[in-house]
Amino acid sequence: MLEPVLVLNANFEPLNICNTRRAFGLMMTSKASLVLNGRGFIHTVSQKYPRPSIIRLERMIKRPRIQVKLSKREVMRRDNFTCQYCGQRASRLTIDHIVPRSQGGEHIWSNLVAACPTCNHRKGGRTLEQAYMRLLRTPAEPPSSAAYIYARHLTQNEDWIPFIEGW
Ligand SMILES: [Zn+2]
Repeated sequence: MLEPVLVLNANFEPLNICNTRRAFGLMMTSKASLVLNGRGFIHTVSQKYPRPSIIRLERMIKRPRIQVKLSKREVMRRDNFTCQYCGQRASRLTIDHIVPRSQGGEHIWSNLVAACPTCNHRKGGRTLEQAYMRLLRTPAEPPSSAAYIYARHLTQNEDWIPFIEGW
């Protein structure tokens, strides 16, 4: 009952992800309807119910466009778990403030990159110019597309892809 279920707004825009239990609650109270039953059925003594993969809200919910929340994990993901200085794909990466906080650098997408411990240590509390180091690419805020935001769910839930693309 805890599998992820994609929740679509009334206009089919991907809204969020809930679990099967919550999806059932929304369907039973007619707040949402089944869009895709990709997971077979749940049997009770007298009935069987489709196990939803995607549901859609009956009433439109207004909310601002989803954005990727700035976090260490999301910076790593944006940078493809690759040190942005030497290009090494390391399992133990750190976050580097390109302009160090001690020099007024902000905690924002464009000032954060994934760095291996060696490069981070080498750069120390210096700017790129001061450390004579170069970035592989200029960091920016990642796209706020549904495909990017829900990417980690799509390998497990390929049936979501047509409903995610284009948003
Ligand atoms: Zn490195």
